Amino acid sequence: SHVLVCGGTGCTSSGSQAIIESLESEIKKNGLEEEVKVVKTGCFGLCALGPIMIVYPEGCFYSEVKAEDIPEIVSEHLLKGRIVKRLLYKETVQEDEVKSLNDTNFYAKQHRIALRNCGVINPENIDEYIGTDGYEALGKVLTEYTPDQVIQIIKDSGLRGRGGGGFPTGLKWSFAAANQADQKYVACNADEGDPGAFMDRSVLEGDPHVVIEAMAIAGYAIGANQGYIYIRAEYPIAVKRLQIAIDQAREYGLLGKNIFDSGFDFDLELRLGAGAFVCGEETALMTSIEGHRGEPRPRPPFPAVKGLFGKPTVLNNVETYANIPRIILNGAEWFSSIGTEKSKGTKVFALGGKIKNTGLVEVPMGTTLREVVEEIGGGIPNGKKFKAAQTGGPSGGCIPESHFDIKIDYDNLIEIGSMMGSGGLIVMDEDTCMVDIAKFFLEFTVDESCGKCTPCRVGTKRLYEMLDKITRGQATLEDLDKMEELCYYIKANSLCGLGQTAPNPVLSTLKYFRDEYVAHVVDKK
Ligand code: SF4
Repeated sequence: SHVLVCGGTGCTSSGSQAIIESLESEIKKNGLEEEVKVVKTGCFGLCALGPIMIVYPEGCFYSEVKAEDIPEIVSEHLLKGRIVKRLLYKETVQEDEVKSLNDTNFYAKQHRIALRNCGVINPENIDEYIGTDGYEALGKVLTEYTPDQVIQIIKDSGLRGRGGGGFPTGLKWSFAAANQADQKYVACNADEGDPGAFMDRSVLEGDPHVVIEAMAIAGYAIGANQGYIYIRAEYPIAVKRLQIAIDQAREYGLLGKNIFDSGFDFDLELRLGAGAFVCGEETALMTSIEGHRGEPRPRPPFPAVKGLFGKPTVLNNVETYANIPRIILNGAEWFSSIGTEKSKGTKVFALGGKIKNTGLVEVPMGTTLREVVEEIGGGIPNGKKFKAAQTGGPSGGCIPESHFDIKIDYDNLIEIGSMMGSGGLIVMDEDTCMVDIAKFFLEFTVDESCGKCTPCRVGTKRLYEMLDKITRGQATLEDLDKMEELCYYIKANSLCGLGQTAPNPVLSTLKYFRDEYVAHVVDKK
């Protein structure tokens, strides 16, 4: 048998390490070391039910497992083959039959490309990654394709940047490839900072090699032989696993000199971020990698022309990279057959807030918000009604119930005043005050503004004060108009994306929930 135990941050914090230790000691006590292999994996996705484990070959999904349950699982299931029904995730039990996890509401509508190995392999063992076709795409690229062909495949796939902007990845690569320089770089943005977002962390914890492989492919495509992964120091498990993965890849000759005897050299380094939200902005991130204070710089020049250390650079986020090897192996046509007309493939979302199945999901673009919240997410707890969902974090906006059936893709979300963002999806129920939500995000932005330009530094502060005045019941209708005006001013005049998008949570709640703002003011006419 194989026992997979989730070792992602969610399950680790709910006690999965103690479970692994107890499993190992019980297995030893019962003399099962030869027959049973315990594998610590990355995130399975259903974080709300952690700690989670799956026992193969039956595929039994045990949830909310405690260390005290382990002797029973070992003596009953592993020794005698009797499933411990009381611990099974109830959705996998149907009239005494144990259903496959893939048939449960949580997984049935998901399509895992970026997350395909998360919860499946041991991320600290390169052989397991190789066992699932790992590094095959890199081998194929280096031995069968020219750099231009690789870029064409990525262009044809329709992949767009998953960090929020949605810029076509192949096009970005082609710009950097076209610029001649003695040195170029590829970089990975793993500085996931939106409150409630943990997509990138989970990919790095569960499948770090996929990012390494993809960055090497990008390096070959644009002519770069050095890469940097910029990752937040607050992600210790991801940092540790990435470092192990880089070391193993070097040992196997998959990073370093003359990879696959192709004459192509490529190596990677980690750079740790200290937690400033603005360092997720691409120019600030590069400034920080260069060893300076992480402040944005004006664009143009864009990174493809003058990026890291003044050299042409491709910067993509973790999830974007996680799609690359599959696109190479399965083809551009396969990828572009998934999703909507202008948004191809899948998107990973971190479900949070008032939703039963908080956790990580990956769905084809074009899945409706209702499907994500009600079917995959299991709906709202305590019989409450759905009120809105926030996507795009502090740069995004709210989606009200009137748009519950919206097909999620880049363009549809922008059309209704929100944005895809990196994939945080926070659900609110009927009891949530939307002015409080706007205030929460504004407080975050005020804290995280780097202070370099006045519209953002002072503007967001004034905006926060106005929101505060409203929630204290001291504002007038005229103040609401002034607040809206200030929002547009900040958007138009801030230097970087942080300031330009900071008023979005206010604007979108004003658009859809103006009555709640009006309910707070003193002259309600
Ligand atoms: Fe800094 Fe805000 Fe200006 Fe961006 S918009 S440079 S975060 S002050």
